[in-house]
Amino acid sequence: MKATILTIGNEILKGRTVNTNFSHIGHVLTFAGYEVYRGLVVRDDPSEIAWGITQATGFSDLVVTSGGLGPTFDDMSVKAIADALGIPLETNADALKMIREKYSAQNMELTPERMKMAMLPRNAEAITNPVGTAPGVFFSYRGVRILILPGVPSEMKAILESMIPRIRISTVHYYEESVVLNGIMESAFAPVVADEMKKAGGSVYIKSHPSSAELSNPVLEIEVSGTAQDDATAVKVVRTTLENIKKKHQEMLNKK
Ligand code: ATP
Ligand code: MG
Repeated sequence: MKATILTIGNEILKGRTVNTNFSHIGHVLTFAGYEVYRGLVVRDDPSEIAWGITQATGFSDLVVTSGGLGPTFDDMSVKAIADALGIPLETNADALKMIREKYSAQNMELTPERMKMAMLPRNAEAITNPVGTAPGVFFSYRGVRILILPGVPSEMKAILESMIPRIRISTVHYYEESVVLNGIMESAFAPVVADEMKKAGGSVYIKSHPSSAELSNPVLEIEVSGTAQDDATAVKVVRTTLENIKKKHQEMLNKK
């Protein structure tokens, strides 16, 4: 199943904020059995957010967004997404309760800005935010599941974590493991990589990551990842390929 991650925020595009939310969500969704297909970054602008969600819902089974959930004027993700999909916004009773409890615990009133965070797409579910105020938002649109998360990394992580049991694909188990090979050039090892992938018949994916200059003292990290119907099989296919790779590496060194 395909997933798309839509990160929203001018600060990401300007390079002020490193898009660590993207890498975290990508990692979590991969281990939850998804093929993360695309990552989009858009400005805090309703028409850009509309473009992003339209693209993403066009081919994904799951879309996860981050950013723009707060009370300020530039937090417009929920409304922009709902408008783009033609879903009306309504005050969500659960969201209002969550927000009211957070602020009243601090002896603070529910201002219009704070109440804005309880306006969710009709029939959407408010997801408890254990470390902040704005709840996450979860709903389905034409068979695509959409999870809207805050930008603050700790809040994004906490809500996403709580959703894993509900979004994980139980029939797809992912595993990855790496090995570091010294003294072999990426270009020299490329045929082995291609051959091992062919031998595994599509059950593993091998990526080589050179970490030093190819022509001086080459160091190559080989990452093998694979999916299977259960954890044990996923581990087995990955480790079998890794063992073959280590053997080939040794043979090549011996020949030098
Ligand atoms: P808030 O209630 O703080 O307004 P929000 O959901 O509106 O929450 P943003 O305003 O988009 O979130 O971002 C809040 C903080 O999170 C900022 O400091 C921002 O740099 C950081 N942040 C936002 N998006 C990302 C991202 N993709 N990766 C890492 N950090 C991010
Ligand atoms: Mg904000």
